[in-house]
Amino acid sequence: MKRDDMLKQARERSQPWDMIIVGGGATGAGVAVDAATRGYATLLLEQHDFGKGTSSRSTKLVHGGVRYLEQGNVSLVMEALKARGLLRQHAPHLVSELACIVPSYAWWEGPFYGIGLKLYELLAGKYGFGKSQALSKEETLSRLPNVNPDGLTGGVVYYDGQFDDTRLLINLIATAVEQGATVLNYAKVTALNKGTDGIVNGVTWQNVETRETFNAQAKVVVNATGTFTDSVRRLAEPDVSQMIAPSQGAHLVFDRSFLPGTNAILVPHTKDGRVMFAIPWHDHTLVGTTDTPMKETSLEPVALDSEIEFMLETAGLYLEKKPSRSDILSVFAGIRPLAKSGDGGNTAALSRDHTIHIDKSGLLSITGGKWTTYRNMAQGCVDQAATLADLPDKPCLTQNLNIHGYHPNAATFGPLSFYGSDAPAIRKLIADDPELGKQLDSELHYVEAEVAWAVRSEMARTVEDVLARRTRALFLNAKAAIRMAPRVASILAKELGKAGAWQTEQIKMFNQVAGGYVVKP
Ligand SMILES: Cc1cc2nc3c(=O)[nH]c(=O)nc-3n(C[C@H](O)[C@H](O)[C@H](O)COP(=O)(O)OP(=O)(O)OC[C@H]3O[C@@H](n4cnc5c(N)ncnc54)[C@H](O)[C@@H]3O)c2cc1C
Repeated sequence: MKRDDMLKQARERSQPWDMIIVGGGATGAGVAVDAATRGYATLLLEQHDFGKGTSSRSTKLVHGGVRYLEQGNVSLVMEALKARGLLRQHAPHLVSELACIVPSYAWWEGPFYGIGLKLYELLAGKYGFGKSQALSKEETLSRLPNVNPDGLTGGVVYYDGQFDDTRLLINLIATAVEQGATVLNYAKVTALNKGTDGIVNGVTWQNVETRETFNAQAKVVVNATGTFTDSVRRLAEPDVSQMIAPSQGAHLVFDRSFLPGTNAILVPHTKDGRVMFAIPWHDHTLVGTTDTPMKETSLEPVALDSEIEFMLETAGLYLEKKPSRSDILSVFAGIRPLAKSGDGGNTAALSRDHTIHIDKSGLLSITGGKWTTYRNMAQGCVDQAATLADLPDKPCLTQNLNIHGYHPNAATFGPLSFYGSDAPAIRKLIADDPELGKQLDSELHYVEAEVAWAVRSEMARTVEDVLARRTRALFLNAKAAIRMAPRVASILAKELGKAGAWQTEQIKMFNQVAGGYVVKP
């Protein structure tokens, strides 16, 4: 993953690409892996950094979706449960089993949720995780030491998966490159070009760093731009009607004292009829999420005050030590690219299934779905794109493809476990230059070598890329990330050969973004 090499490949290709993918989130990266693995000449263009959009802002669950079961959407749940099982096989360094407990506060809740969660477990079949079971009040309290004991009657434990979304994304991008794809961050598609037949046959894209623009031809263009799907469709046909209903979800991050141990809490029915989770994640407590219909989308959405208050209130009902605004270490929001239906007033009821849509211009858009099912989405998308572009038939190979970083026993790498098979290379950086072993901030375990690694091997270009998506500092503790920014800027400047003014500008830009992750008391 070297941006200069990628740029050269993108600029020098004179033949049409088999497939150009617009958007470097979970959907685009999945499509790039699938297409490249089949041997199609593939170019992926991302306007900002990989994962800048929704794909860095998930609840970090690899799940079948217990809520969709309640809605009766059994086939969606079964597909996602299989996807969950395969993802754990393909990326065991990033996906782990998570015990989730539904605490009961009425006699009927245990049996009621117990039956539903047993069905959830059975639907996973051979891709199953651990077995669900009823817990006594004492067992619930011992697994969840900070659960609210008032009126607690017991609980039900079931198992799902959890992951680190951007680490998986960066590893998927690396997998696509290993399979022969060309991928570029900071490469914005500004126009869709058409042949005399009115069919899209390429794109104009801008290298955002230099402002140079290029044309690239393609047999098919895949629009995987999440909540930006409609704006990209309008580059080809200004009058197309909207297919996306954006819905925002926010999360709060606290220290581990609010959720000691390794178990998560599932709140099955919040005041607004949703589910909410409290999850142990990277030695912190992650609480989320909300479902707020939005009129507009944004690359850097900001949590609403009403969302923050709602999550604090709901968490406070279930936790004995109740979190307050001053306990929040970071707040982040993401926007779901849900497929529109009706007036879009209640986005919680909209399908979480994905949609593949082909416009009259031949532009293929794929949207919706979830992180967990990115591989299935990609398979369906590449099948359809190949048919549309009359590419030679080639079978999908990703069902048996390990993701870059695959390591069956990555826990042995300690704080570097999330790098999987790349961890020894980062350790070697430290062995060669012990200065790089220095921790960047006393409140987070990240060390300087991870910054150097991110630039050299993972195409990080800015302070934000390092602190938000190569490491998760900004999402875990925004003030600590702000403290880390000057040192990160100086390492980046050395690695990229940039001057002092660039460092100052980088720190300023990062602080502006990070301000949105800090909650005012
Ligand atoms: C609050 C919340 C919680 C969630 N939790 C979970 C969960 O726990 N588990 C789960 O499985 N799923 C979860 N999801 C769903 C999952 O995160 C999304 O389905 C997934 O990330 C969508 O990925 P995407 O690639 O379609 O969109 P995005 O990640 O938004 O990617 C689209 C990309 O397109 C780029 N782009 C836009 N325009 C252009 C252009 N002109 N040129 C080039 N690039 C462009 C954008 O910069 C962006 O990076 C959650 C979603 C939300 C919002």
